[in-house]
Amino acid sequence: MKLTAAGLQQALISAADEIENQKDALTDLDREIGDGDHGINMARGFQAVKKEMESQENTEDLGELFPRLPAKP
Ligand SMILES: [Mg+2]
Repeated sequence: MKLTAAGLQQALISAADEIENQKDALTDLDREIGDGDHGINMARGFQAVKKEMESQENTEDLGELFPRLPAKP
């Protein structure tokens, strides 16, 4: 099986959708051992990933899918 940029984009979008669907369950689990924000934080982070993946132009280069992190001062 070959990993393509389009395949990775779709996998990350699907993961974001599944985490959004399961955020309440993740938060319930976190309430038992932590501060109960895991599902909320995961969903927020993956929605940002989804937005980035959906904004990408077609590319065959996996490295072009991810924006460069800002350089540290
Ligand atoms: Mg927490």
